[in-house]
Amino acid sequence: MSQCLFCRIVAGEIPVDEVMRTDEVVAFRDIAPQAPVHVLVIPAKHYADALAISSSDPQLAGNLIKAATDVATAEGLAGGYRIVLNTGADGGQTVQHVHAHLLGGRAMKWPPG
Ligand code: AMP
Repeated sequence: MSQCLFCRIVAGEIPVDEVMRTDEVVAFRDIAPQAPVHVLVIPAKHYADALAISSSDPQLAGNLIKAATDVATAEGLAGGYRIVLNTGADGGQTVQHVHAHLLGGRAMKWPPG
């Protein structure tokens, strides 16, 4: 059994509120939402972070962003949204399986914390 939390979610071993699934990507609602819409979009295949996926499979990295924008459209976020890939310790990444946060449903502030 994989020790990676998000690999286990891809495998269906941990229940989530899934909003999209293809052969390549899975999207599900964050367990601790930071906005009215907070969805995580992850590749089914394990890559540790944004650098790993963009170095090894840039097409999949692009498809991850495409999936996030597709979810944004499906969630009705026509007014705008934020897509974030926290990367590494200084980036605030806590789960070592690359994931795009899709945040929307409220006005975002800048700079982020
Ligand atoms: P990050 O801090 O950028 O690595 O983001 C990890 C995200 O995963 C956090 O926003 C967590 O709330 C979220 N998360 C952790 N465990 C789960 C889970 N079982 N289901 C949904 N989201 C989760």
